[in-house]
Amino acid sequence: MTNSTEITRVLFENFQPEAIYLFYVFGYAAIACFIYGTYTQIRKYRRGKPDGSWGELLHRFIDMVKTMLTHRTLVRRDKKAGRAHALIFFGFVLLFIGTSVITLEYDILEPLFGIRFWYGQFYLWFSLILDLAGLALIAGLIYMMYRRKWLKLPKLDYARPDRKPEDPDYDRSNYRREDWAFLWTLILIGITGFILEAARLVWLSDNPTVWDTRMWSPVGAAIAHLMQGIGMTPESASSLRVGLWWFHGLLALSFVALIPYTKVKHIFTASASLMFRDPLAGRRLPKVPDDQESAGYKTITDLTWKNLLHLDACTKCGRCHEACPANAVGAPLSPRDVILSLREFANQTLNAKELPKAAELDIHGKAPGQVFMETLWSCRTCLACVEICPVAVEHVPIIVQMRRNLVEQGEMEPLLEKTLQTIHKSGNSFGESKRKRAAWAKDLPFEIKDARKEPVDLLWFVGDYASFDPRNQKVTRAFAKLMNAAGVDFGLLFEGEMNAGNDVRRVGEEGLYEFLATSNIQSLSDCEFNSIVTTDPHSYNTIRNEYPDFGGSFEIQHYSSVVKSLIESGKLKLKKKLDYRVTFHDPCHLGRFNKGYDAPRDIIKMLGCELVEMGRNRDNSFCCGAGGGRIWIPDPVGSEKPSQNRMKEAGVIEGLQVFVVSCPKDLTMFEDALKTSGYEGKFVVRELIELIDECMEYEEVVVNETEVA
Ligand code: SF4
Ligand code: SF4
Repeated sequence: MTNSTEITRVLFENFQPEAIYLFYVFGYAAIACFIYGTYTQIRKYRRGKPDGSWGELLHRFIDMVKTMLTHRTLVRRDKKAGRAHALIFFGFVLLFIGTSVITLEYDILEPLFGIRFWYGQFYLWFSLILDLAGLALIAGLIYMMYRRKWLKLPKLDYARPDRKPEDPDYDRSNYRREDWAFLWTLILIGITGFILEAARLVWLSDNPTVWDTRMWSPVGAAIAHLMQGIGMTPESASSLRVGLWWFHGLLALSFVALIPYTKVKHIFTASASLMFRDPLAGRRLPKVPDDQESAGYKTITDLTWKNLLHLDACTKCGRCHEACPANAVGAPLSPRDVILSLREFANQTLNAKELPKAAELDIHGKAPGQVFMETLWSCRTCLACVEICPVAVEHVPIIVQMRRNLVEQGEMEPLLEKTLQTIHKSGNSFGESKRKRAAWAKDLPFEIKDARKEPVDLLWFVGDYASFDPRNQKVTRAFAKLMNAAGVDFGLLFEGEMNAGNDVRRVGEEGLYEFLATSNIQSLSDCEFNSIVTTDPHSYNTIRNEYPDFGGSFEIQHYSSVVKSLIESGKLKLKKKLDYRVTFHDPCHLGRFNKGYDAPRDIIKMLGCELVEMGRNRDNSFCCGAGGGRIWIPDPVGSEKPSQNRMKEAGVIEGLQVFVVSCPKDLTMFEDALKTSGYEGKFVVRELIELIDECMEYEEVVVNETEVA
């Protein structure tokens, strides 16, 4: 009985042929709207510059499918929203597959080949699965509505930090309307689908093949019983069914037609964005193509097709807005708003049939869709936005490309301009003579090898702050003593080393960066060594991820990995244990940029300290505020600095004694913030190297003369 061909649903049951034709006319019109909209979107992306992300397509596709099936980017740091989205996503996908299966049989297989399969057991299981899918969809949508309406999350209110309320571009109520229209349309499609199912059951309640199998559509059956309970007859159910059928059908067709023109398109753009994600986005910035006359983005058509795709992939979830340290301290920057402004501008200019001549990115103008210069300079290039974005939007490369344009036009803070000139002249940001680069080593009781003259096992790339800043020089000397005590064969480039260029590049001064990178690559290539070590995460990042694009591929380690191995192998003997209660600040360029989360923590535990994590740690660490060249740009007087914000976070840890850092710039930023935020005397800021040094007892002078391994 249960496999009878009579157990099925008759499509368009009791409809006049004219009504069926009319429905098909609407259906084709919806598909035509969808195709045209998709064509204009693709035309828009094709108006962007090329991007070389086409390699390993199969691998990219599999990775994207895995990301979508696991929802791993959506559940991070917001499990409830991620799970609600999963209900909507899987419910929607199953309902879409179900509708496609019906179309396949009704419009193709049966009329052309006489093949039928949508009946009996298959039909019953199909009904059950789609019923549950509809339920999941509605449950997810209700939670999303609850979140928007009652939780009133700041990240969803679209308040702009870069515009004043009186600015015509401040108001984003159209976004809110679009969000609600999206949620209501989907929920109405779901609810009317269930009521339609129930009305059909009541209408055909005399038919045993329909009524006796109703529990395979449990939600529809429950509503059908409710309808009968309130006295609905088969006749009134039949009338209700016809009206609802048209409402439900036309709403669903409108939804399809509007996909390319509304937020709904994120179904496709977010998937494509995930598929073309660059795992090194922001860690390795794009080179200026040899045939390009000027660096950076001047017009909207300078963006690559992938950048334009990212603008459309943004779902306005606000996660980047919430994670951004600049936004957290009141700077006029929200990574979400940068993306949305550019999206508005791209849509205004690139959706037209003819490409307009003036599609310039106006950094001074107040026109809608423009990103202000102050906004671009507020960025710390900390990657918090890129890292948390669930749909793989890559904000930082776009921001840096726009900064390149500002630098070319000389639109920057005087101090920054002066620092760049200083680096150009002296090769370091302190304006010191090259010969003084290793002056910190002169009081050491042992000689450090010159790696330019003799082979070494480890070549130590020191970096500007560790070389010239007096407070950091103490740490640098302590690290030299540790390496020497462990019998490591190491050496320096001395005056052959220049600023590594990481922050120069993130400022947008690409010409100077190329000069610094190629000079350092030349110096390093002239030496004989096994690997590079550095105490500076900024140098670590650019040498590791960016120098290969300029012909310099070197193995490089952050000192925390080297010291951890030395302690584990017994080469570095800790003479005493510490019992401090400490917290650890992940430097952006070590942690988020290069996943170096564990080695510093392991060392802290080896030292005997009790590690208490701050709320924001590891990939969610909070930038000290120095990145992206911001160490060379003064913060506005009277405003909170990211480093002060971080001090407050550490300050709530009961009994905290030491705030541990492992980056020279962090040491500078946080020691300053400790004083200005009122925590001086409550706890201290220390480099991890200083804690290790405290566990050492240098009884005798060991001269660094170990042979190359
Ligand atoms: S990189 Fe950091 S500072 Fe810049 S927009 Fe992203 S989160 Fe904000
Ligand atoms: S850019 Fe990404 S994280 Fe930011 S609002 Fe858009 S989707 Fe969310």
